[in-house]
Amino acid sequence: MSEKFDVIVVGAGPAGSAAALVCARNGLNTLLIERGEYPGSKNVMGGVLFSKELRELVPEFWKEAPLERPVVDHRYMVLGKESAVNIGYKGMEWGEEPYNAFVVQRAKFDQWFAQKAVQAGALLINKTVVTECIVDKGKVVGVRTDRPDGDLYADVVVLADGVNSLLAQQLGFRKEHKPGDVALCVMECINLPKEKVNDRFNVKDNQGVAIEIFGEATKGNFGAGFLYTTNDGINIGVGTTVAAMVKDKLKPYDLLDELKSHPAIKPLIEGGESAEYLAHLIPEGGYRSVQKVVGNGAVVVGDAASLVNAINGEGSNMAMHSGQLAAKAIVQAKKRGDFSEAGLSSYRDALHDSFIMKDLEKYKDAPHTLESNPQYFKEYIPLVTKAVGKYFTVDGTTQRDKQKQIIKSFTEGKGTFKVLTDIYRVWKAVK
Ligand SMILES: Cc1cc2nc3c(=O)[nH]c(=O)nc-3n(C[C@H](O)[C@H](O)[C@H](O)COP(=O)(O)OP(=O)(O)OC[C@H]3O[C@@H](n4cnc5c(N)ncnc54)[C@H](O)[C@@H]3O)c2cc1C
Repeated sequence: MSEKFDVIVVGAGPAGSAAALVCARNGLNTLLIERGEYPGSKNVMGGVLFSKELRELVPEFWKEAPLERPVVDHRYMVLGKESAVNIGYKGMEWGEEPYNAFVVQRAKFDQWFAQKAVQAGALLINKTVVTECIVDKGKVVGVRTDRPDGDLYADVVVLADGVNSLLAQQLGFRKEHKPGDVALCVMECINLPKEKVNDRFNVKDNQGVAIEIFGEATKGNFGAGFLYTTNDGINIGVGTTVAAMVKDKLKPYDLLDELKSHPAIKPLIEGGESAEYLAHLIPEGGYRSVQKVVGNGAVVVGDAASLVNAINGEGSNMAMHSGQLAAKAIVQAKKRGDFSEAGLSSYRDALHDSFIMKDLEKYKDAPHTLESNPQYFKEYIPLVTKAVGKYFTVDGTTQRDKQKQIIKSFTEGKGTFKVLTDIYRVWKAVK
């Protein structure tokens, strides 16, 4: 039999590296396997990394991690055809320790984060694909890789292999994603001189802006766009569900091109040079799409377990936190020598007690409500942008008449009852 490890972690993204780091720090013989040439080489993220969960693992990480700007200005932008409604918060406290969030470029960040696990004692092997889990008498006992003699054994296997998680599917822990539960996102990294970024976004060198974009960005479908400032440029992207792409015959690259040429966006990116084009899936099904996360000899973390809060744009922090919780459960299981489903179940309990499942549960009806009621994105969002435009237009119409016209624009053809029902339904889904 090949060498046996205490833990094998499949995938060196935020979830896998966090799990490997905590396992190694606790003295477990840990192997981290990554299919890419290096951690991050295949990974895609818009890139707002909320700092709290990383701080728990690497206090004062900002002194050593490869980071872009700390986000001091977080905005929502709702696009009409040729208009935009903005709302946001700019806070100088976010530009100081311990920081709320940083923009990161995953190719650099993931390498650094995986190295933290290596420094703690984990062994990292790149360019290695785990093709299946090895199961013996109903328990996962290792993994099969695409290397010659590539079977590797461990007491526990951590599945941190991202959104598709073919391994979790192979084990029967979860079913394939439904097209409405997964978003296809495309993004572009654009180089732009630092001074231009500062001028256009009204910030200094060490201050960043994150803008979440709705409305026209997704052509009235459930989903969002984003624009985040990096040190010397901008990351811009957009995504909507695979179901919407198929139904409305949308091409993701067309969506991005249209977003980039929108009059509210174009001046922000003008003159920039395209550095990279990327596409990836995001599991956005929320609470109801989280399936089995613990089995005999195996746990599932991060995107592989669908731990993404699409409403608040949180994924990487949830990945890290779930990795940490899983590792703590494995450390306890090792002490007891019990790697059965029951022995590892404290991970599931900790996950349910954490902000991850509590937040996903709070929004449990939101993805389905927004996906299956197209009127919210297709009708109400354009009406909101028009209503705000009307409110700010001074053309001799009295304020009372404007108010009446705005209300009429919402109820016309639908009736007040239908509008109130829609408001109640969405309030219930996100309250
Ligand atoms: C366009 C886009 C924008 C996003 N923006 C944000 C954002 O602003 N903020 C945020 O918090 N989240 C964001 N997310 C979500 C975030 O990227 C994910 O939630 C996060 O990366 C999940 O981490 P993970 O470690 O679970 O999975 P991943 O980061 O996908 O890592 C999985 C790793 O496993 C490896 N792997 C897969 N299969 C195998 C195998 N069989 N063998 C070996 N290795 C394997 C992969 O190469 C990869 O390194 C965004 C996602 C996308 C696509």
